[in-house]
Amino acid sequence: GAIFVGNVNASALAKGQHSKSVLDAGWSTFRTMLRYKCDDAGVWFDEVDEAFSTQTCSCCASRTGPKGVAGLGIREWTCIHCETTHDRDRNAARNILAVGRDRLAGGIPALSAQAAVGHD
Ligand SMILES: [Zn+2]
Repeated sequence: GAIFVGNVNASALAKGQHSKSVLDAGWSTFRTMLRYKCDDAGVWFDEVDEAFSTQTCSCCASRTGPKGVAGLGIREWTCIHCETTHDRDRNAARNILAVGRDRLAGGIPALSAQAAVGHD
């Protein structure tokens, strides 16, 4: 019922040393198409602040993940506080989802209420 993406600035990243991977991924195009498809399907779509999403442990919220340019190659890490082992991308996705859900909880009508109206 809802898709959230990080607000990564693809054009700014493309000017840095990681430009090739950013441009290969076609982030801006992907987000534009995803938003269009969500609108068409009645799925909530939102971009959220992804700051610290890779550094923050999605279990205990400590910032114990890999940091900075030196940490970009670290794909898996273990939180020193709660000892949960994370896949870098899955952990970041969980954090982005949590931010999106928090934003939704702030005032968007509940999906169950919309579904109930739809069945009448
Ligand atoms: Zn943790």
